[in-house]
Amino acid sequence: MTPFANAILTWYESYGRKNLPWQQNKTAYSVWLSEIMLQQTQVATVIPYYQRFLERFPTVIDLANAEQDEVLHLWTGLGYYARARNLHKAAKIVAQEYQGEFPLNIDEMNALPGIGRSTAAAILSSVYKQPHAILDGNVKRTLARSFAVDGWPGQKQVENLLWQHAQTHTPQVDTDKYNQAMMDMGAMVCTRSKPKCTLCPVLSFCLAYKQGNPLDYPGKKPKKEKPIKATWFVMLHYQGHVWLEQRPPSGIWGGLFCFPEHNEKDIAHAITQRGIKQNSIVRSEQMIAFRHTFSHYHLDITPILVDLSKQPEIVMEANKGLWYNLSQPEEVGLAAPVKLLLDSLPAELQY
Ligand code: SF4
Repeated sequence: MTPFANAILTWYESYGRKNLPWQQNKTAYSVWLSEIMLQQTQVATVIPYYQRFLERFPTVIDLANAEQDEVLHLWTGLGYYARARNLHKAAKIVAQEYQGEFPLNIDEMNALPGIGRSTAAAILSSVYKQPHAILDGNVKRTLARSFAVDGWPGQKQVENLLWQHAQTHTPQVDTDKYNQAMMDMGAMVCTRSKPKCTLCPVLSFCLAYKQGNPLDYPGKKPKKEKPIKATWFVMLHYQGHVWLEQRPPSGIWGGLFCFPEHNEKDIAHAITQRGIKQNSIVRSEQMIAFRHTFSHYHLDITPILVDLSKQPEIVMEANKGLWYNLSQPEEVGLAAPVKLLLDSLPAELQY
């Protein structure tokens, strides 16, 4: 075992996290669920989602048998919905091709939707103590600083170098503890903006500390201005209900329910297209615009509230649209800005 790994393991015994919900009664299913939820999301946010998911879907078979709408509904608020869709797809594969048991081979695990090399390694080391190295965001930061690895980890050669360091130091025994300790180190000690170097078990090895520049690692992604796009949400409202439509299964907000989305020029057409007569419009009002930011662009959203005196018969493929009851909401997955708008609607529109 390298002195680096030894120092990490000794620190873990005293300070590592051992009481997180997914560290109790571990199964491949529960660890997988937590690993997927923890990608891009903080532990404190994940805990209630994780508990609700396990309560509703105690096994991977239960998840595989669920409707996608229910899965997306339980995911609402966690963001990055491709994770939820892949979770559901992977559950179906485990149920159908592996008889409900996750594969024990890292390549087969890695091939499941939404599971990359690091996640596969995290599950297999945590549950079955297989000696695989992991490299999530926390581990990348600690290793990049400890070994002064220059460059942005999104670049392949930088990532490869970090994998080499990860493999060199991951021990063959106690791999489960070491991997957990490295995740804890990144979350608790070698944090993004204020690393607690004086409390760090690998301070004596750390090159970035010696150089006096831990914050220069890992290297930043080369800056590129995000483009700005604009869209209009048509919020058809009738007596405590708003009209929502399900998005196509892939792409932005795939499978989630959303207000009809249009260009400014198409709004009148969007209204007539849904069979709404001018004389049934009580008022049409532009609400405050807001920005929703995706990883690759900003979307400026202008909501238009259209209050109706009659509920139109909107012709649409079965189950693709619904009059969403504002006081007794249906259990469907909602796009984040839709949820935001629904939560901010004035009380008088709720009934
Ligand atoms: S000494 Fe500081 S920068 Fe280096 S690994 Fe520890 S916390 Fe991170």
